[in-house]
Amino acid sequence: MEKKNTINPHTYSIDEILKHFDCNENGLSSEEAVQRQERYGLNVLEKKKDKSVLYIFAEQFLDPIIYILAAAMILAFIFQDWIEGFAVLFVILMTTLIGFFMELQAIRSVEALQKLAPVKSRVLRNSEVQNIESSLLVPGDILILEMGDVIPADARLLDSNGLALKEASLTGESHQIEKNTDKLDKETPLSDQSNMVFSSTIVSRGNGKAIVTGTGNNTKIGEISKLTREAEKVRTPLEKKLNILSRKLIWLTLILAALTTISGYIQGKELLMMIKTGIALAVAAIPEGLPIVATISLAKGMLRLSKENVIIKKLESVETLGEVGVLCTDKTGTLTENKMVASSIVVQNERLETFNIQNQDLPVPEEQKERLFQVAALCNNAGFDKENSGDPVEEALLGFVTDLDGDWERLRQDFPRIKEYPFDTEKKRMLTINQENSDVLVCVKGAMETVLKHCDYLQTGVEVIDFGNKEKWLEEGERMASNGLRTLALAYNSVKELPSEPMSNLILLGLIGFEDPPRKDVAQAIETYRNAGVKVIMVTGDHPNTAQKIGEEINLIKSGSNSENIIYGADFNNLENISKEEEKKLLNASIFARMIPEQKLNLVNLYQKNNLVVGMLGDGVNDTPALKKADIGIAMGIRGTEAAKEVADVILMDDKFTSTELAIRQGRNIFENIRHFVVFLLSCNLAEIIAVAIASISSLPLPLLPLQILFLNLVTDVFPALALGMGRGSKNVMKQPPRLSDEPIITSGRWKAIVAYSLSITLAVIAITWYAYSFKQYHPVIVNNMAFYTLILGQLLNVFNLASRESSFINNEVTRNKWVWGAILLSLLIVVTAYWIPFLNTMLSLQPLEIDQLLMVILFGGFTVPLSQLIKRTAHFSGN
Ligand code: ATP
Repeated sequence: MEKKNTINPHTYSIDEILKHFDCNENGLSSEEAVQRQERYGLNVLEKKKDKSVLYIFAEQFLDPIIYILAAAMILAFIFQDWIEGFAVLFVILMTTLIGFFMELQAIRSVEALQKLAPVKSRVLRNSEVQNIESSLLVPGDILILEMGDVIPADARLLDSNGLALKEASLTGESHQIEKNTDKLDKETPLSDQSNMVFSSTIVSRGNGKAIVTGTGNNTKIGEISKLTREAEKVRTPLEKKLNILSRKLIWLTLILAALTTISGYIQGKELLMMIKTGIALAVAAIPEGLPIVATISLAKGMLRLSKENVIIKKLESVETLGEVGVLCTDKTGTLTENKMVASSIVVQNERLETFNIQNQDLPVPEEQKERLFQVAALCNNAGFDKENSGDPVEEALLGFVTDLDGDWERLRQDFPRIKEYPFDTEKKRMLTINQENSDVLVCVKGAMETVLKHCDYLQTGVEVIDFGNKEKWLEEGERMASNGLRTLALAYNSVKELPSEPMSNLILLGLIGFEDPPRKDVAQAIETYRNAGVKVIMVTGDHPNTAQKIGEEINLIKSGSNSENIIYGADFNNLENISKEEEKKLLNASIFARMIPEQKLNLVNLYQKNNLVVGMLGDGVNDTPALKKADIGIAMGIRGTEAAKEVADVILMDDKFTSTELAIRQGRNIFENIRHFVVFLLSCNLAEIIAVAIASISSLPLPLLPLQILFLNLVTDVFPALALGMGRGSKNVMKQPPRLSDEPIITSGRWKAIVAYSLSITLAVIAITWYAYSFKQYHPVIVNNMAFYTLILGQLLNVFNLASRESSFINNEVTRNKWVWGAILLSLLIVVTAYWIPFLNTMLSLQPLEIDQLLMVILFGGFTVPLSQLIKRTAHFSGN
């Protein structure tokens, strides 16, 4: 079982700590790790106990809707109306059971989804780097740390290469903290323990190695959060909205039911009968189960998306996805393939020249070539780790060396690395210092504007000359970028001793352009987004010309479009006092180039200030503030850092831009399905109320008896409604603008539709009652039965009114929904069975009908659909 670790690892030297944990820098063996696992347990924070199944069931009863149903049941028992009392009890049990199973399923789906994207760590085990689930870490494991990692356990540093961490999750301190390996005093406060890394903090720069000293609850974060951990009930905003709606509807229903009872009594109908009818109406019309249907639809949506490689971390994100109006995406790897190939190079031999290096030739002196190879091979982290392929641009550089018959592995042996300043997205460059015999070799690569600024000299053939005409180089680089190439400048310096200012006196070697073709399916996705009113924005650290060219290729901007569409990161700093005009320009732009992460955050703020719901794709540790701030943060599963994945709401396991489209489509569909569900249920319920109300204030017999109302509530209302909630959605859903986040579930257009559909059904029911009673003068029981069946038919057919107006009446999202047909069949089957089972037959006061009476039922019931369609298509209710 978990063993408490009481040492102060920061007070140990590296040797002491390795000795204490009985291991060495090559890591534990697998067998040892398993044994330690048994001793220390899993590296997870112990959760407060989850709610028991019984508790979840009991919770279903704590609902005002159930209180009202219970009151109705008690009233029925007081009137000694046993059958009705039990029928309401049955309704209560069904409602709570459905709620219970749905909530259980929702909880299970969320749990299952959380397991789909486990957090991983890189550790040394059996002297090899392995990617293992962080929960399997044990004290003594050697962690390999890199920028963007979320620290999975408390650990003492063994090695630090410019390592800095953001420890806000632990200490609240937002600045990055520099780390090293020096032994510290016992009294050193947590925030100053620079030789330790703590669970849940983030590597913001550099890389290093550390030995795990505490796991699970035996970490600093474990100690702090012990008090606050609790399994929270999942309550999405949609669920809350539906809760509010159903509370409002309770009152409306109660008032209508009471009015119907009173008016019926005044009209001379039997009081007891009217009270029972009122109660039944109230029971039937209260829309129990609304919120839980939302939860289950959202959970189903999450599961469907997970099969498409899209992991949604929080239920409510599915809902927000449908509201996204702006989608900010990075370029490399998302819009492009991320398969870099060095394709051209600019160097100066006799003159400044651009060579195509894909034909594997570079006609420059060997010395010049050798220097290029040195920087390409040494200022590069690819190829070190066989498991992890590394940065594609760096891989491409190794390919460049190999293709031109260089040997990067030999170079790495001959020029051992002394120091590294890792690539930094803000500085946009990487620098290494290597041993060159008795000298020191500084190698730099990075964005051309940044590197050229620091170059005082230029390699020209075998000579090094003063660097005069930088403009010409910049022009050449821009031309390269205009062809869509990602461009890097390579520079070096050879000095006698470690320089205090390594970025000075640099010698420029040349510019290399890398080809990275756009992904094939992106243009289509952008077109779909255009039709769906979602603005796609490219936010890249790359050069504006590269961004423009790629933007044109994927149809994000028109070919040759003016620079209005492209904003340069540097122009984007101070958004505080910008004019309306400038703001408009920013809002209209489609490409933001040379952006640093902080500017990404400003961009999210700008859109949000303009009431746009923002989706933001990102992968780096520096993207985390923007991912967090965006309404939907989307991280890449393959390329993304653990930090980005942790703060994101959505993870794209296949790193594909097109997967966002699936997610947004699904988000929109789910909301529409829930709307269909609500509109259907309310129109059916309203039809029942109005039909009974009209009959009770007129001299007509009641078209529905109390038990018949309860029966409808359980059969014809429920199944088709649930089926509508399961639909795959309309094809038109991506042809409409995004939903506004403050848009109510039931818009005024939809309220009108509810009234129209319910009146069509009511009209059919009242018409058949009048026809059978006043015209044909049938027995009141037969009249009632005809009205009852007409209502059932009208309600079942009402599902077909829910398809969007734009789709065809025959082939639409409702008719394509197999669940709908199943629900209709099932409901009909239950109605027929109820007729044949003597007990139910008596309960529902059913009598055999003649063929012509049944035909009348079909005629009147069937008439409801064309009537509803006529109203819907002529009145043009918005949103329907
Ligand atoms: P994208 O939107 O294309 O994904 P990004 O926002 O991730 O780009 P960065 O990776 O920050 O952009 O790259 C910005 C610039 O930094 C590049 O144009 C390139 O000049 C330079 N750069 C990129 N990778 C490296 C690297 N490994 N070493 C040195 N410089 C690099």
